Amino acid sequence: MRGYYIAGNWKMHKTVGEAVDLAGELVKRLARSGHRVMIAPPFTSLQAVGEKVRGTNILLGAQNMASAELGAHTGQISCLMLKDVGVSVVILGHSECRLLDGETNALINAKVKLALLHGLEVILCVGETLAEREAGLVEKIVVEQVEEGLRGVAPDRVGTVTIAYEPVWAIGTGKNATPQDAEAVHAVIRSTVARLYGAKAGEEMLIQYGGSVKPDNAAGLMAMKNIDGALVGGAALSADSFCAIVEFDAYQRAAG
Ligand code: PEP
Repeated sequence: MRGYYIAGNWKMHKTVGEAVDLAGELVKRLARSGHRVMIAPPFTSLQAVGEKVRGTNILLGAQNMASAELGAHTGQISCLMLKDVGVSVVILGHSECRLLDGETNALINAKVKLALLHGLEVILCVGETLAEREAGLVEKIVVEQVEEGLRGVAPDRVGTVTIAYEPVWAIGTGKNATPQDAEAVHAVIRSTVARLYGAKAGEEMLIQYGGSVKPDNAAGLMAMKNIDGALVGGAALSADSFCAIVEFDAYQRAAG
């Protein structure tokens, strides 16, 4: 049983005070959640939010990190600094970093290996653009991103990687993939991991879906065999919507 893993990516939102308030609310409301939960506030709030979630069932995540450990890298944040403030998970390869900041598969792979070397868990994001989908390239792009992202990752470390399938055209647009569309790509990702690392690793890999996940569509996505959770952007910015997604089963029962 893989269980569910729901992560909130707060992107470039929330002052320190707002972040601490939201984290405090989530700590209270999700204390009894049976699902794995992570929140990734902006770098400026990591320390304060880390103090709020320490000793709770909510994991502290970072939205990115540098590919180097230390040194002359203006504007970058090292994995050592993240660990120092209590971060245990880092999101890597988000499409906004790939497309807006020019992050390549090779750079993302270097970050994945560095994060794992330092004992951080990784959420590796993959996903196609609309043009790639329309050109029939979904499988090619996603398989390539998984293979390149995991290149050189040792078999005994791959269990601390979660893959997030995030079709770029569904992020922040309100258009989400249907559960069936998402499931088809998740199945390809799982078989790719199985091909690279063996059947057990494929079976155990947590694969999140991301792209306009909301309280109303979460349960339908989670019902799919190969969807093990969600990476949530916009709907992670309010306690009501994020808690409803984390507790998607209870939310669905209440909605009838
Ligand atoms: C994301 O940025 O990872 C994301 C999925 O955003 P949204 O939920 O807003 O589409």
